[in-house]
Amino acid sequence: MQEQDKTKGKLYDLLVASLPVGLFVVDEKLEIIEFNAEAERLTDWNKDEVIGKQCSEVLQSSLCASKCPLKESAQQQKSILGEKASLLTKWGEEIPIIFSCSVLLGEDGKPAGGIETFRDATVLKKLEVQRKNFISVFAHDLKAPVSIAGGFLRRLLQGKAGPLTEKQQYYLQMIEKETLRLESYVHNFLDVSRVEAGQIQLSLAPWNIEKVLDELVAGFRVKASEKDLAIYLDFPEKLPIVSVDEIQMERVISNLLDNAIKYSSPNSEIVLRAWGEGDFVFIEVRDQGVGISKHDLPYVFEYFYRIREIGQTSGTGLGLAAVRAIVEAHGGSVWVKSEKDKGSSFYIKIPKSR
Ligand code: ADP
Repeated sequence: MQEQDKTKGKLYDLLVASLPVGLFVVDEKLEIIEFNAEAERLTDWNKDEVIGKQCSEVLQSSLCASKCPLKESAQQQKSILGEKASLLTKWGEEIPIIFSCSVLLGEDGKPAGGIETFRDATVLKKLEVQRKNFISVFAHDLKAPVSIAGGFLRRLLQGKAGPLTEKQQYYLQMIEKETLRLESYVHNFLDVSRVEAGQIQLSLAPWNIEKVLDELVAGFRVKASEKDLAIYLDFPEKLPIVSVDEIQMERVISNLLDNAIKYSSPNSEIVLRAWGEGDFVFIEVRDQGVGISKHDLPYVFEYFYRIREIGQTSGTGLGLAAVRAIVEAHGGSVWVKSEKDKGSSFYIKIPKSR
């Protein structure tokens, strides 16, 4: 038995040492009792130097002071997975990380320690910044040629370059229609990429969610009635106050409602639900429409992603990218649950304070 325990112990040591992610374990006082080789490599601290020290003292993570993930995990009694933060190395260099942590509860149900794993996200962060800049510059550079071409086209149509035959007029009108579409496309794209790149300053003010949701739904009822859709509102009498940029958030809810109507089956229901929980306000837009397959689900918030089978419906593939960019700019998050042919639920989560 003892021999077996020894082998298990060795196996545990080997496993911890060879993990390709940084890992540390703390006791109930948040003092470090384990620190693996990758944690040493990422932070430049030696295991001997950190054992017995408070984890916040060693890692000085961006979250240590405000909301210790280990304490939060203990409070919520669940693991925190794949969150972003940053930490300081021994030499004070800040590195972005992606971390997960879980708390270990003792027999009395009180936290008896915890475990946190983390990996370096420097490259990911760099790529993310490059991607945002690239998109923003690309959208900006597209704008000028498209609007100049549109201007010349309108002049031609006004006969400023001489009289046109009926056929020429017809062709130019068709080109103008498509150019206008392209212009609005580029305009939207530029807008979304600016929010995403943080180039649009949000004007935050307390949000009267109930009133805004009521008004938005009233505006969408006509469109919904064309497909015999019923829209229901579901929220408590009093919702917590959150500070948001109202124009941008209205755009978020409008995009979600517009999609719910567009992708709903006739004669079905759409529910717009809002509630407060913990430090967040949640909004859900649920429909009983075409749904989204597992294959497409991870990509629907990407730029220009449109699902082929239902490509006949008009759209740009920018709506959900805008939703995500705006909600994330508010420090929130968005996600979707959906089942093909059954319907979809889009959720947004906005923090009460940032
Ligand atoms: P689009 O302008 O094409 O609607 P979005 O970015 O708003 O662009 O949505 C991206 C894609 O996600 C859509 O083309 C559609 O295939 C899918 N989608 C969005 N909302 C829903 C929904 N409520 N039900 C089913 N599919 C949806």
